[in-house]
Order: sequence, then C-alpha cells, then structure tokens
Amino acid sequence: MSDNEKTYDLCIVGAGFSGLVLAIKLARAGLNVCLAELNRVVGRRILSTGNGRCNFTNSRMGSEYYYSDYPLDFIGDNHEELEDFLRDIGVINRALDGYYYPITNQAKTVREALENEVNALGIDVFLDNRVKDILKGDVFTVVTHRMEIKAKRVCVASGGLSAATLGSSKFGYKMATKYGMTVTRLAPALVGTVSSDINLKELSGVRALGKVTYKFHSCQGEIQFNKDGVSGYPVMCISRFIGLDELNKSLGSLEIDFVDFLNEEELKNELKKRFAHNEDATILSSLNGIANEKVIELIVSLSRIYGDTRVSKLDEEDIDNLVYNFKHFIVSLKGTKGFDNSQVTAGGVDLAGIDLDTMESKSTKGLYFIGEVLDVDGICGGYNLTWAYTSAAKAANAIIREV
Ligand SMILES: Cc1cc2nc3c(=O)[nH]c(=O)nc-3n(C[C@H](O)[C@H](O)[C@H](O)COP(=O)(O)OP(=O)(O)OC[C@H]3O[C@@H](n4cnc5c(N)ncnc54)[C@H](O)[C@@H]3O)c2cc1C
Repeated sequence: MSDNEKTYDLCIVGAGFSGLVLAIKLARAGLNVCLAELNRVVGRRILSTGNGRCNFTNSRMGSEYYYSDYPLDFIGDNHEELEDFLRDIGVINRALDGYYYPITNQAKTVREALENEVNALGIDVFLDNRVKDILKGDVFTVVTHRMEIKAKRVCVASGGLSAATLGSSKFGYKMATKYGMTVTRLAPALVGTVSSDINLKELSGVRALGKVTYKFHSCQGEIQFNKDGVSGYPVMCISRFIGLDELNKSLGSLEIDFVDFLNEEELKNELKKRFAHNEDATILSSLNGIANEKVIELIVSLSRIYGDTRVSKLDEEDIDNLVYNFKHFIVSLKGTKGFDNSQVTAGGVDLAGIDLDTMESKSTKGLYFIGEVLDVDGICGGYNLTWAYTSAAKAANAIIREV
C-alpha cells in the first residue's frame, strides 16, 4: 500500500478524455486533484478515435444527436468551449464539413496535449493502478491493486465496455450499483453488424451510398459490405438498437434503400425514361450510374431478370420489381460485432440517479460520474468526446462553485 498521506480534494478514476479534462479544469482552479488509471499511459483510447485522427466535436450539435432517456438540452452548448479548451493546450483544429479534427490530423496530438497540461499543472497521476473499490468514511478511500488514495470527493470517469484492449472495465457500473444507483442495459454501439445473408457474398468489398433502416431507425451515408456483415456510418449510427435487440432476442433485419435520392414513383419514371431512350440496350447498361455496379447486378438478378436482357423485353411488373428491390434490399442479421469492435457503449449509469447540473450522485454526496460510463451515447461524428467534455465541464463548474 502507498505511503501517500495526502487527502485530495478529488480523486478521478480513469485518465481518459473526460477524466483528464476534469483534472485540468480543477487543478487550474487551485484544487488538489489526482488521477488513478489502469493503463500505463493517460488517454490511451484517444489515440484510436476518428481512425487515429480524433474527431472531437461537430458544428451540428444538439440533443438530437444523442440517445438518452432524459432531456439533455444542454448538450453541446459548450462545444465551442471544447474547441477553445483544446486550442488553449496547443491543439489547433480544422473542421471538415463540420467535423472537427486537430490540424495535424493526429489523435496523438490531443492525447499528448492533455498529458503535457496535466504534467505542467503538477497533477498526481497514478498509472498502472486498477481501481478496485471506493470506500466511504469521513473521506473517500480509493482502493487500487497497489495503493489507497484518500480524497474528499471521487469522480468515476472509467468509461464503458467498448474496445477492452484500450482499457475498459465494469468498475463504474459496479460502483453505481454499490452506491444505490441503477445501471441500464449495456449493449455495443457504433459497431458493425454480423450477417450470414447469402446476398452479401456478391457485395463483398462494395461501398455504396444509401439509406439503412432498422425497425424505426434510419440513417443515410456510405454503407460498407463484407461477406460476413454490413458496416459504415449509417449502420454504426443505428447499431445500438441492434445491440439492444440482440440482448432482448428480438433481432430484426436491415432494409437498405440504394436509391434514396428518388422516391418510388420518381425511380419508376427514371427507369422508364432510360428504357425508352434506347430500347436495344441491355438492362445492365441502361441502369449504369443509378447505383454501384455490383449493387445493380444483384438487384437485377434478385428481380429475376438476366443482365443481358434488352430493356424492350421488360414489362411493368419487371419495372416494379426493380424499383422494389432497389429501395427495399433486406439483409438478415445475426447481431453486432460486439463490445470489442464497438466505439461506444449504449446504456450505463442511469441518469435518474445523477444531478445533471453537477454530475453528482443523488444518493451519495461527493461521488460524481462523468463520460461514457453514464447512460448517454452519441452517433458518429465527435459527439461522444463532446459528451465526455460536457459532463466533465459540468462536474468541474459544480465542484469549483462548492469549494
Ligand atoms: C475505436 C474508437 C474510435 C472512436 N472515435 C471517436 C471519435 O472520433 N469521436 C468521438 O467523439 N468519440 C469516439 N470514440 C468514443 C470515445 O473515445 C469515448 O466515448 C470517450 O473516450 C469516452 O471518454 P471517457 O473519459 O468517458 O472514457 P475513456 O476515454 O474510455 O476513459 C476511461 C479511462 O478509465 C480507465 N479505467 C477503466 N476502468 C478503470 C479502473 N477500474 N481503474 C482505473 N482506471 C480505469 C480506462 O483505462 C480509461 O483510460 C471512439 C471510440 C473508439 C473505441
């Protein structure tokens, strides 16, 4: 056990994005804070964000980009503050179509900037310390596998269950339950899907634009097909519902609209126009450009038409079949690719037990929860790091006010 006799104003469990932001804000305000982290480096997960580029926020911001059972009107109010915060520690950014990245295009820049600031402020960081328990007496005792840390307050910033190799644990959920809060069902989100649908063999390697619908949830963008599943932005954005249904054993299928820029009637007219333009053309050449080439081949075959059929031979029913198959392509599902391949966790510590002005537990004074451990998940696009920042900033402001 450690001979660390200090009693910190706050001990933060987890030196990920939210924990680092909170530590910096409080240390700047003169508070005595420390971080306990199971990895040997702070902010390890940040390195993997945005495909190694760290998409940390988005100019399109608001609660509609998040899933939560509670009104989160305040979300993103401070996303410009997040840009300023990072700018202040040396991260110059640039926005690509509203998606913010460091100008270096390297997530490493963000991790190192946070680490440098933590060092500059002299914040105590206990690396390679897996926190096992939080005990409450006159002050809190944070028990790691190496030491005990005394603190007047504790903030759980231990993240979710995604990408275990980057450092994830059930710790935050265990502590929430221990201190009288509830934890909602946990499912992988922002994750690809698994399917053994026979049609995927034909589409393996294809990236096609379209709209993906799963039950009542739809999203548009680039869909990526593999022989054993479907992923890409629109699938990732709705994958949380697939993950939750997998738990409930109520999995549905994906429906893909490959021609989402035209409604059914417009598509029918477009096909008729093309077919009338050159009646001697084959169906495949006549459809050229309406969708990805391999998609066209598959849809024609699913509509029971040979690729070399002259369009003059097609009747009204053939055209209706083509329209239907382009707009309602079904992929049966086996589930998601699981937590290890997911970017975020759907579900978490129920916000009913948290004061959303302060991020403090309603049942235990001095115990705070921030970041992904809470039951909030955003879609792809910098929304999850924005939530990590927003919740950390709320906790920081509240603690500074109190102290
Ligand atoms: C591959 C990938 C790409 C992503 N890309 C983006 C993106 O581009 N934009 C975006 O907004 N979001 C992205 N995310 C999501 C984003 O990284 C997370 O939502 C965000 O990091 C959550 O911050 P956090 O501080 O709550 O948790 P984390 O960053 O996960 O930090 C939690 C920390 O707690 C530590 N910890 C856990 N348990 C313990 C314990 N018992 N004791 C001590 N320490 C512990 C962990 O090691 C970790 O360092 C991505 C995620 C992944 C996996």
